[in-house]
Amino acid sequence: MAADAPITQDLVTIPRKLPEGGKVNLVGLTRDALRAALIAAGTPEKQAKMRVNQLWQWIYHWGVRDFAAMTNLAKPYRALLEEQFEIALPEIVSKQVSSDGTRKYLVRIAGGHEVETVYIPEEGRGTLCISSQVGCTLTCSFCHTGTQKLVRNLTAGEIVGQVMLARDDLEEWPAHGTGSGDDGPRLLSNIVLMGMGEPLYNFDNVRDAMKIAMDGEGIALSRRRITLSTSGVVPEIAKCAEEIGCLLAVSFHATTDEVRNKLVPINKRWNIETLLNALREYPRLSNSERITFEYVMLKDVNDSDADARRLVELIKGIPAKINLIPFNEWPGAPYQRSDRERIARFADIVHNSGYASPIRRPRGEDIMAACGQLKSATERARKSRAQIAAETGGA
Ligand code: SAH
Ligand code: SF4
Repeated sequence: MAADAPITQDLVTIPRKLPEGGKVNLVGLTRDALRAALIAAGTPEKQAKMRVNQLWQWIYHWGVRDFAAMTNLAKPYRALLEEQFEIALPEIVSKQVSSDGTRKYLVRIAGGHEVETVYIPEEGRGTLCISSQVGCTLTCSFCHTGTQKLVRNLTAGEIVGQVMLARDDLEEWPAHGTGSGDDGPRLLSNIVLMGMGEPLYNFDNVRDAMKIAMDGEGIALSRRRITLSTSGVVPEIAKCAEEIGCLLAVSFHATTDEVRNKLVPINKRWNIETLLNALREYPRLSNSERITFEYVMLKDVNDSDADARRLVELIKGIPAKINLIPFNEWPGAPYQRSDRERIARFADIVHNSGYASPIRRPRGEDIMAACGQLKSATERARKSRAQIAAETGGA
């Protein structure tokens, strides 16, 4: 942990309206839902499609939040919209910037709950790691979020809202009147659903939010630039391919059911073999190339040469890359990170079997923004270590 690295803590309070009683928030509505809402508000059916297109462009292409600025709509219609609707995002409570440029946003959603969103700048691109739930129902024993009970699912608006508020902060909305915004490199070019929560346990909202992010008339991120990470919710995997079509990452982390039961307890429900069978179908169904196998490197737990060999044996035939994640420590964590040499040796074995095996460089460690470190410090509903040990069989 780079404890002595300089940290810029930049507290910002951006006043934004939280959804209030009465007004319907347009952010997060699919095109069909938006159409229905406009018709219910008095838009003539014949005009509805055009109005959806106009609003969509204002909200998701130009990032406009104020109906009064929507100059291609007649003034009385703008007034009607203003009366019945709002364009509201979650609120950024604070922003921390790591010495490596990573930005961590603490985001407050309705009900006063908080989630974290992390922006990771890279050469010529940038990835936004977004959350799908407050807390998580699962209890992976190496994950900080797993020590926090599920509080609630995020709405589609709160999920795509994280993308929008990051674009606000990066000042990346195209100026009104300019082209599609996809010319040239983007600061926010990729999304990973690797923040707090299990996205496949909030499937409908995640799907709707990603459909909005992929829509060519708006934020327009290609489905190949979105990666959903799951701990292995087998029945939802095929649905993810068919209804979202994004890339898939799987938190694999172990090569025997015995060890995986402890690290990723959902394995007791859907074991390694069942999971692999579902994964074999994924590239065909989603028309995507490779599945990312995430593998957290835990000292003396899952990092032996035998593990590396078993891993490549297990995934034979699946187009895959293996992303090795050095364990990110958090206060009270029951594991240690594997040594650098061990990780390198493990990577070599995997690589020599024909699979790409990049070692993920931890980003934003000085602000606790790295994978698996996210947890809203203010949530009171915490599980005790004893409770986790009981649920995971004492991993
Ligand atoms: N719930 C989903 C997505 C969120 S976690 C899932 O489990 O896949 C994103 C990735 O970070 C997962 O692969 C997860 O296993 C990994 N992770 C969790 N805690 C970690 C930690 N402390 N160090 C390194 N990786 C971790
Ligand atoms: Fe939940 Fe993913 Fe953490 Fe497991 S690793 S507890 S599924 S967020």
